[in-house]
Amino acid sequence: MNLFEYQAKSLLKQHGLPVGRSVLIKTKKDLALIKEGLFRSGYVVKAQVLAGGRGKAGGVKIVKRADEARALAGQMLGSNIETYQTAGAAVKIEAVLIAEKVAIEQEFYFAVTLSRKRGQAVILVSSAGGTEVEAANAGALREIPIDPWTGVRNHALREAAVETLNIPAPWINNFIEFGRKAARIYAEGEFSLLEINPLALTPKGFLAVDAKINLEENALFRQPDSLKFSEENQKLLPALERKAKDLGVSYIPIGGRIGCLVNGAGLAMATMDLIASHGQKPANFLDVGGGANVDQVKGAFEILLADKRLSAIFVNIFGGIMRCDLIAQALVEADKKTNLKVPLVARLLGNNVDQAREILSKARLTQVEVHDDLEKAVVSVCQKVHGNGDSGR
Ligand code: GDP
Ligand code: MN
Repeated sequence: MNLFEYQAKSLLKQHGLPVGRSVLIKTKKDLALIKEGLFRSGYVVKAQVLAGGRGKAGGVKIVKRADEARALAGQMLGSNIETYQTAGAAVKIEAVLIAEKVAIEQEFYFAVTLSRKRGQAVILVSSAGGTEVEAANAGALREIPIDPWTGVRNHALREAAVETLNIPAPWINNFIEFGRKAARIYAEGEFSLLEINPLALTPKGFLAVDAKINLEENALFRQPDSLKFSEENQKLLPALERKAKDLGVSYIPIGGRIGCLVNGAGLAMATMDLIASHGQKPANFLDVGGGANVDQVKGAFEILLADKRLSAIFVNIFGGIMRCDLIAQALVEADKKTNLKVPLVARLLGNNVDQAREILSKARLTQVEVHDDLEKAVVSVCQKVHGNGDSGR
């Protein structure tokens, strides 16, 4: 789960990292908070969306006066924005951050994350900070290792400051302090990623002009501040994704016409590949996992039955831990609540498969077809969608 810039900055500020002054606008009423003379140097009006690349997409605007900032924020709030990071879809601007404009002398890329190769956390820095980092200089990142016992070494930060970042001598100690603090906040907050791009050198020292935090969801139970933000953001998810989160099943919509329900992430991906290789596009990744109960599977079916964009549903269950009869029972119950209106092809194999077939035949779900051969099942579901005059794209 990613945090909004304003949430990330509030966590950083709380732990003593300089982020600059700002006010958050969540409603039209809040616009009144942008008072005349609030910031003397100018106003940076920043769309709050869970994606970067806002600067290039018109989501970050710098203006001189409060009335201009108010007008811009009013336009942004509730409108849609598409950046190169929003996967071809426009996302709604839920809030606008009004930041005090700072004088930037130098911009850097700065992040703390886990290096799987090294098996330890690292600070990543580059002298190509700001909006150009991905394009221009992805290869020029310098890694500064963070020792799990002793933390990040001052001399390693100093070397990076001199050799990679060309930081002017009077500011090197300030950079070291910033780096040490950021590394500590990353570890204590148990984040997956803490990214500050750009990290700005201003006449008053280093400042996080932008901030992105990716939370480690498995640690949320002992991170109350992060948990609060994560719960707030969950409410903003589309209804079906929210339902999946509440149920504890992994669900990622991807836009095709064949809804999939599978047990196990690897099997789910193999299933999606197989559908694609037969010329159709899966509508989603949906993994109910090995140990799901009836309610979870029923809820997962309800998600698929509620999705009006689907032309067919494909169920692929390899009953190792999962029982096929539980899947069948969950489907029958979900169908009672929301009628199954599209063809459903199921490949059921393993634990209690005979009971599963019996449950389905008793329920007289005429549009359900059961196979034990995966390839045949996939061919059949793809034909059904194809027969609809539907290219699946
Ligand atoms: P992103 O494009 O979504 O990553 O949004 P950022 O918050 O990084 O803003 C984009 C760019 O706007 C930054 O790289 C800066 O160059 C510029 N910018 C943002 N805030 C300020 C500021 O306070 N002063 C100045 N001079 N530039 C800013
Ligand atoms: Mn940025």
